[in-house]
Amino acid sequence: MKSIQLGKSGLMVSEIGFGGIPIIPLSHEAGVDVVRHCHARGITFFDTANMYGNSEKMIGDALATVRKNVVIATKTTRRDKAGAAEHIALSLRNLKTDVIDLYQFHAVSKDEDLETILAPEGAMQAAREAVAAGKIRHVGLSSHKIEVALKACRTGQFETLQFPFNFIENEPAGELFKTARGQNMGIIGMKPLGGGLLQKAALCFKFLQQYPDVVPIPGISQTAEIDEIIALYDHRQPLSDKEKAEIEAIRAELGNKFCHRCGYCQPCAQGVAITEVMMFRSSARRLSPKVAAALSRKAMATVDLCSNCGECVEKCPYELDIPVLIRELKELHAALGA
Ligand code: SF4
Ligand code: SF4
Repeated sequence: MKSIQLGKSGLMVSEIGFGGIPIIPLSHEAGVDVVRHCHARGITFFDTANMYGNSEKMIGDALATVRKNVVIATKTTRRDKAGAAEHIALSLRNLKTDVIDLYQFHAVSKDEDLETILAPEGAMQAAREAVAAGKIRHVGLSSHKIEVALKACRTGQFETLQFPFNFIENEPAGELFKTARGQNMGIIGMKPLGGGLLQKAALCFKFLQQYPDVVPIPGISQTAEIDEIIALYDHRQPLSDKEKAEIEAIRAELGNKFCHRCGYCQPCAQGVAITEVMMFRSSARRLSPKVAAALSRKAMATVDLCSNCGECVEKCPYELDIPVLIRELKELHAALGA
């Protein structure tokens, strides 16, 4: 497994990382086994978040004996100094470590969030103090919105950027990654398999291999998944013409259904939780259908509030037929026994 540098952080990580969401529904022992297997196969970069259930604890237990050889990244959703300081202390305990290699502000997708983080008494202050105290080594952010991520990159205050990147969501390869590179930021590609929607690992990772400075962090819940991905890196092959055609066919098929989680459609005046509902198809594949159904129950209940006003469709840059799609997803939710 090759190592690459995460930009100005200087952190050296395996060219494939580990995404810590799909171990959430596993037992503690099973989660620890998966993480240890990934490490044994050469993965040295593990990404998790304070809000991913027991993921931090599993990763902390799995890697305690090899802590010095791995890079651990986690995240906080808190935007204020006191809240972020509380989360840093909690993550250090969960991860059983004295220092977090990369601390990220989680899902910074609104201008107000970015402003609050960077304001006096904002979360960045807690991160800077933790860096000075030796509790954090580097600071980055994750985002789902290109405009906000661009603003964050241009501040020069973040060492890494984590953003969804796969052959359906390939817009970041343009101005966003160019800007991040211009700031010498490390780039981390979340959702390399489209959050579970894209089933063919060969297509997904051969596409990503065209961007060697972007470190993908596939979510892994079974050892066979990482073995399949590593084989694609051990025996690297460019996309064949047939595979390129397959990608185009999948883009055409999913293009009018694939929610990019950008949030432009919201808020809905009737209170429909559009993005949460739209994410159900991928979370049902990523997590177990039962867990995903339970987590989405509250959001699904809002689908009945939809009055078909069409405002969200006008706001969606991908022209998704949201009123139809949310009803389809509600039926799928019911079919999965929710
Ligand atoms: S069409 Fe439905 S979901 Fe969309 S904005 Fe109108 S009420 Fe909300
Ligand atoms: S439905 Fe459209 S506007 Fe709403 S989050 Fe998904 S892609 Fe964005």
